[in-house]
Amino acid sequence: MGTVKCIGILTSGGDAPGMNAAIRAVTRSAIYNGIEVKGIYHGYRGLISGEIKPFKTENVSNIIQQGGTILKTARCKEFQTPEGRQLAYETLRNEGIDALVVIGGDGSLTGARIFAQEFDYPIIGLPGTIDNDLYGTDLTIGYDTALNTIMEAVDKIRDTASSHERLFFIEVMGRDAGFLALNGAIATGCEAAIIPEIYTEIDQLKELVENGFRKSKNSSIVLVAESPTTGGAMQLAERVKNEYPQYDVRVTILGHIQRGGSPSAQDRILASRLGAAAIDALLEGQRNVMVGIRNDEIVYVPFSKAVKQDKPINRELLDTLRRLSI
Ligand code: ADP
Repeated sequence: MGTVKCIGILTSGGDAPGMNAAIRAVTRSAIYNGIEVKGIYHGYRGLISGEIKPFKTENVSNIIQQGGTILKTARCKEFQTPEGRQLAYETLRNEGIDALVVIGGDGSLTGARIFAQEFDYPIIGLPGTIDNDLYGTDLTIGYDTALNTIMEAVDKIRDTASSHERLFFIEVMGRDAGFLALNGAIATGCEAAIIPEIYTEIDQLKELVENGFRKSKNSSIVLVAESPTTGGAMQLAERVKNEYPQYDVRVTILGHIQRGGSPSAQDRILASRLGAAAIDALLEGQRNVMVGIRNDEIVYVPFSKAVKQDKPINRELLDTLRRLSI
């Protein structure tokens, strides 16, 4: 691969707090190393339509503390077709962009992987998703902030749950991953977490109710990962209402507040480290890897592993939650 002279940067898929800190880190680290930067707006859609602007250090001033993404994000069906990706490749050639940094989740990095293979084009991925579901990295950008948002919301709901002696099912994001639900439950002293990773093994709801919400407790809160596997909080609450009418059941769906807000210190630091490391990776001649963090060290994870392998839930966390909720 020749020397990288100009990189493009884009954010794609679901937004996550800390994406701006990552954009800033990639941009400044590139400029520090004498590499030109171009910001690509609206993810792969903007790559196809050519929504591109040169970025200087001042374009990323005063954004480290902002949630969302200044580059905007989008979902783009056209990029899933060979014709769409061909157009994206032509844009990159016309703009003189010789490597790409993609910040996004599982879907965005899958797209990056396919594109990189198809055109033999260097791409570095950064894990930007509140779900923490990318294999090979202990943490993803946005996860810690979302977890803190969940913690604050559940703390507030507990006040009303205990005053009214109710059973609350609170739905949190996580698509096919239970990291937010499980760690959110531990952080807020919940009675249980219903997560997709375990759902197929046992009927978690039955176990929960039949083992009995402790008699001396006057309220219970269960966090439920939003997922086709768990069925979500609404469906579980309906089941409890039908099968165990003695409980006063309520549902709260936290929804999009989990994506918003100023990133936590941990997310800002993570995004800054990963963003800087993305440029190191390119300078070292790496391509088609996601930059992640393991045991506090930067690692390069091939796209094939990051998006294809399931990231396992730590069973010790499940056990801790179970033991502490008696
Ligand atoms: P996230 O990155 O947050 O998981 P999505 O799953 O919505 O979000 O993916 C974001 C975008 O990535 C999609 O809109 C599409 O443009 C691209 N993408 C996802 N999967 C593929 C695929 N199999 N092939 C090509 N592009 C894809």
